[in-house]
Amino acid sequence: MKKLYLDKDLKRGLEKTVLKLVEEVGELAEAILLQDKEKITEEIVDIIAWTLSVANIAGINVEESFKHKYSNSCPKCKNSPCSCDSI
Ligand SMILES: [Zn+2]
Repeated sequence: MKKLYLDKDLKRGLEKTVLKLVEEVGELAEAILLQDKEKITEEIVDIIAWTLSVANIAGINVEESFKHKYSNSCPKCKNSPCSCDSI
C-alpha cells in the first residue's frame, strides 16, 4: 500500500483518510443489510486498504503491531481460543 498510495495518502492527510475509512465501513454495513456477499467482500478489502493507508500516514507498522497484540492468544484473557465472557 505504501508503494501504491503513500504520496497520495500524505497529501490527503490523516483526517480525510479516516473519513474515507468510515465511508467504507458504512458501505460494508449497507452490503451486509443487502446480504450481497460479493459487495461485502469488496468492502472488507477496501476497509483493510484504507486502514493500512491510515497506518502509513501515522507511521505505524501494522504487521509488527498486530503480531505483538494478537501473537497466539487473546490480548484480554490470554487464551486461545478466546474465553472472554463477551461475544
Ligand atoms: Zn479473550
